[in-house]
Amino acid sequence: MLPKDLEVTHNGTTKNVTTKKVPTNIPFAKPYTTGKELNYIYQAIAGGHTAGDGGFTKQCQAWLKDYLGSQKVLLTHSCTAALEMAAILADIQPGDEVIMPSFTFVSTANSVVLRGGIPVFVDIRPDTLNLDETKVEAAITSRTKAIIPVHYAGVGCEMDSIRAIAESHGLLVIEDAAQAFVASYKGQPLGSMGQMAAFSFHATKNVVSGEGGALVINDPALVERAEIVWEKGTNRSQFFRGEVDKYTWVDIGSSYLPSDLIAAFLLAQLENSQTITLSRLEIWEHYHKAFAELESRLNIRRPYVPTDCQHNAHIYYLIVDGIETRTEILSYLKQNGVQATFHYVPLHNAPAGLKYGRVYGDMSVTEAICDRIVRLPVSASLTQDDADLVISLVFQALAS
Ligand SMILES: *Cc1c(COP(=O)(O)O)cnc(C)c1O
Repeated sequence: MLPKDLEVTHNGTTKNVTTKKVPTNIPFAKPYTTGKELNYIYQAIAGGHTAGDGGFTKQCQAWLKDYLGSQKVLLTHSCTAALEMAAILADIQPGDEVIMPSFTFVSTANSVVLRGGIPVFVDIRPDTLNLDETKVEAAITSRTKAIIPVHYAGVGCEMDSIRAIAESHGLLVIEDAAQAFVASYKGQPLGSMGQMAAFSFHATKNVVSGEGGALVINDPALVERAEIVWEKGTNRSQFFRGEVDKYTWVDIGSSYLPSDLIAAFLLAQLENSQTITLSRLEIWEHYHKAFAELESRLNIRRPYVPTDCQHNAHIYYLIVDGIETRTEILSYLKQNGVQATFHYVPLHNAPAGLKYGRVYGDMSVTEAICDRIVRLPVSASLTQDDADLVISLVFQALAS
């Protein structure tokens, strides 16, 4: 027996004949595909190369290198992997310190801890929620090796100051650009300004390949070793170019390459990355206009983007007055079929942060913000109607 709201049509398929309202379902990160992914994956299979470093990997790397104007780009299976490679290339030794925000994803800190290094957590700016560049210099010691600015929500950190501080103390800058693809600071793409940078193409990011990432090398001195670390510690790339006559184990390394099937998916997304970003920016702007009145009426703040920065609409967030309001908004949205979320539990007082990290100075902004942030759904496949619904639900939640 068919359920009573389905009837069989003339060609044997079923058709829904009820007028029942379909329940709302707006996921937090609604997947967006360009339509070319399957075709490229098919081509990769037909071409017979599905392991890493195939034709699609090379095309993605060339695309990224050209877009960023960098020395070298290596695709990885995640941003986590790219950050781990960067920590190897930065030659982090046991006891070496790396300055970073605590308001970030765990991989920023793990990359350093895995080498025996110490993450030194510094507070964030209250406006952009990025590493507070005015607090970095005081955190530097004789053991400091690098600074990892995280471009939160695709809004650039104050790279001029951070780079000047790093240069005057002989430190490396590794941009955690996981959230920052197709965004810029003073006209320069994020990911092109540190000696190294790491991007994520994880399904929750803007431009995706399910899991995926890239290590960007902007310092020519790091290129040769980067390829070796990427190729599991061998000189395989040099061997294939005919630069060495045997292929052998020359350094530490690991398995960082994604399959060319992943790269095929990614290429379709890279080619559409401007369109994807513009669609997200439309949703972001729609939220931003609608929520303007909350700032004047209630103790609620919207994202802040400095005029020097072009962001990529990775995240739309609201900062509310406390955890109770946040819980109310999140559960009201959930009851009504909209998935909203929050982050981060600060790293500095998480169990592993206490064990492996160290705090420099006062963390009051990080601690004050983490219970108050609400992240709303953003995706290139959300419609203005979806966004309108989210907006009206937020207003309803705040009115109750
Ligand atoms: C998503 C994210 C990562 C990790 O990216 P993966 O590709 O999932 O490994 C690292 N840092 C930040 C800031 C992120 O947002």
